[in-house]
Amino acid sequence: MPSSTHASATSDSVQVSSLLEIHDLHVSFRTRDGDVHAVEGAELSVDRGSTLGIVGESGSGKSVTALTVMGLTRFPNATISGEIIFEGTDLVKLPNNQMQSVRGKRIAMIFQDPLSSLHPLFKIGWQIVEAIQAHEDVSKATARKRAIEALREVGIPSPEKRIDSYPHELSGGMRQRAMIAMALVLKPDVLIADEPTTALDVTVQAQILDLIRRLKDEYQTAIVMITHDLGVIAELADEVAVMYAGRVMERTSRERLFTVPELPYTWGLMRSIPRLDAPRPGRLDSIAGLPPSLIHLPSGCPFHPRCPYVMDVCLKVEPKLEQSEPGHLVACHLQVEERRRLGRELVSQHGSRSDER
Ligand code: SF4
Repeated sequence: MPSSTHASATSDSVQVSSLLEIHDLHVSFRTRDGDVHAVEGAELSVDRGSTLGIVGESGSGKSVTALTVMGLTRFPNATISGEIIFEGTDLVKLPNNQMQSVRGKRIAMIFQDPLSSLHPLFKIGWQIVEAIQAHEDVSKATARKRAIEALREVGIPSPEKRIDSYPHELSGGMRQRAMIAMALVLKPDVLIADEPTTALDVTVQAQILDLIRRLKDEYQTAIVMITHDLGVIAELADEVAVMYAGRVMERTSRERLFTVPELPYTWGLMRSIPRLDAPRPGRLDSIAGLPPSLIHLPSGCPFHPRCPYVMDVCLKVEPKLEQSEPGHLVACHLQVEERRRLGRELVSQHGSRSDER
């Protein structure tokens, strides 16, 4: 895995410890109805050979955070502030032309639905070759050879033939593998996977997760896994960030999250996972209410209208993300001891998935 070939991202260098660090990231979009505050002060980091899982409902800011890392939210109506430090370079300040040499080559992304992300009118080989030639000065023949190897590596059978298939000629699992091959052919340092298995059945989902885990181990790629599925987090993540209303509200190791979760929102997500080893419930638990409007956020804690533990202070004061213990950050006004007691209780009643990896 190349780690020092970043030719263009040379300005605004600072000392950092992780490969990718996000500090106080704010992203908002001006709309006719008002400003949409999609990300509010996100603090995240991921290092080589490890996986950061970002979990939360739709509209929690997971995907906007990822797209901003890729430089794909630089719309005229967008306001972006904070820092995205990649190997010492602040990507927020990096001009578009320099960002192009990072995107795809150093930081790659796989999307939820490969059918809408792959161009339907071009063969998958052509699309992978184009991605290689956009970043490297190699002949078409060399790029095609590498594309075939990449398809082979992600488990596509007969890649010499499949390379000349159009996206619609492949199954959902094969298309997702082709997307992953395209993302990995340039051996990126960071791979962002945005709900990569949502559109797939469980067997293919397990194969894709295995593939991502193997690639992380083999190439020491840093993985950012975005999902609404805590089962995927339990399978793959080393660190977990729980996002709600554009904020990171709990951040800790996978083991800790599935042993002593400390946030009422995380408890709600955990309760909503059906378990195969428990008696079949009449109805699945769900979190009451809906995610808030990102234009008109509730006062205080953004989760307060849905929180069964809401207190007066929650209506007035937004909780800060603070250290509960080393390596465990939580944004909640509940007393620490009370949070831990309730979290442990939930895990003992509902079971932990941390041993299912
Ligand atoms: Fe619930 Fe209050 Fe904690 Fe928010 S701060 S999660 S409303 S207890």
